[in-house]
Amino acid sequence: MIHRFFGGVHPQGHKEYTEALAVAPLPQPPEQVVLSMSQHVGAPCAPTVSVGDSVTVGQVVGEPTGLGAPIHSSVSGKVVAVEPRPHVGGSPVMAVVVENDKLDTPAEPIPRPAKPDKLTTEQVIEIVRAAGITGMGGAGFPTHVKLSSALGKVDTVILNGAECEPYLTADHRLMLEQPERVIEGGRVLMRALGLTKLVIGVEANKLDAVEALKAKAPADVEVRPLRVRYPQGAEKQLIQNITGRQVPPGGLPANVGCAVFNVATAAAVYDAVFDGKPLTHRIVTVTGKGIVRPGNFLVPLGTPMEHLVETAGGLKGAPGRVLCGGPMMGIAQYDLTASTIKGNNGLLVMSTREYAPTPKGVLTCIHCGRCVSACPMHLVPLAFNQRFTAGHFEQLEGLRILDCIECGSCAYSCPAHIPLVQAIRAGKNEVRKLQTAAKAAAAKAEAEAKAAEEAAKAEEAAKAEETKAEADVPAEPTKEKEEATSK
Ligand code: SF4
Ligand code: SF4
Repeated sequence: MIHRFFGGVHPQGHKEYTEALAVAPLPQPPEQVVLSMSQHVGAPCAPTVSVGDSVTVGQVVGEPTGLGAPIHSSVSGKVVAVEPRPHVGGSPVMAVVVENDKLDTPAEPIPRPAKPDKLTTEQVIEIVRAAGITGMGGAGFPTHVKLSSALGKVDTVILNGAECEPYLTADHRLMLEQPERVIEGGRVLMRALGLTKLVIGVEANKLDAVEALKAKAPADVEVRPLRVRYPQGAEKQLIQNITGRQVPPGGLPANVGCAVFNVATAAAVYDAVFDGKPLTHRIVTVTGKGIVRPGNFLVPLGTPMEHLVETAGGLKGAPGRVLCGGPMMGIAQYDLTASTIKGNNGLLVMSTREYAPTPKGVLTCIHCGRCVSACPMHLVPLAFNQRFTAGHFEQLEGLRILDCIECGSCAYSCPAHIPLVQAIRAGKNEVRKLQTAAKAAAAKAEAEAKAAEEAAKAEEAAKAEETKAEADVPAEPTKEKEEATSK
């Protein structure tokens, strides 16, 4: 049965630059890798090595301090710095910098107490945690946490091979070239959740990958081609398309009995469970009209973006825009010394022809409603922009701005070129600030009320004490009593 999600758009695919190019290792490994301590959702890791230490490939260099996953060195060599470095997300973040000795000396493999199909759920969760696996489709949520929280709540496991972002082909090449890693990694996740069926969703513009997967799929794996429509690969839209279930506003896939993992995440699980290898490398598509020789590369994590640009033949003149990820959801890059992290599936260099900056001046909404029709989350993007620009931040939460998945479909379809996603991201920040302030005010009011209550109790106790003391003072003897006593 075909289910369809609401809204969405049809941007040009531009996958032709790299879809036919096999994944290649970097011809020249990087001289240094810069291993950011922030590669996942949650608190950054704490470095576990110091300047001067020798490290091996797969050695832990950062341990989580809260929600997170460990970070491993992707090369062998010497630690030359532990300091904040540019991060793809914007502000500098603490990083471990390793001078590559180019010997690729391996660390001890991750302990695996049983054969892959005999591992208990707890053992799989521990291996996935120790391997530092996080969502590789961009979200970066620690996979062992997702597994633990889905236990007993889900009846469907979905592997996300939609790769609906234009230009990107990293997942496509992975499914086409290494379908066994994807399938077997997915089956490990399926068994860990106590289920017997796995569905792999792939957009129908990758039919060769669909065939490659089908050729290797055992009876418990269904490969489902999906219609081409952006954002098909967004978790909630993928679930709706495959199962017909709708994740409620503010809800999680587990609320409708589903767990979704990216195909590259499943391949990383395969490496950990079958080969004892932690997550140290990933496939990155380096593409766009602004790059000389686009390609799909197997990249050691921590490789600086400038090294990837060099590997792909350099820039074709001044770029119009550089993005980490695709054109719809990618993050603009202004410093190419930032390095590859676990969730980076692409580096897109758009030429000045491909990317026309937003026209300057006042951009007026013509109330055409196209952004509303395009929004797969049933939101009203023009209202976010209106309230944000007018400074009415307090109204944004009620409009469900936090449900926005930042897919960019609204901005893509806006004829007035209003930078809606920028306004939405800034609006979300304002809402979070208001929520924090409201929480702090509520906590303060609660503390004050508690203090007042305690003060009232103390006063009451003091009064009671006073009354008791007065009652305990012996009464002055009366004249009659004195006389009676003397008799
Ligand atoms: S409002 Fe958010 S979810 Fe809706 S189209 Fe725009 S970016 Fe996508
Ligand atoms: S698409 Fe653009 S112009 Fe049309 S209603 Fe939305 S914000 Fe306004």
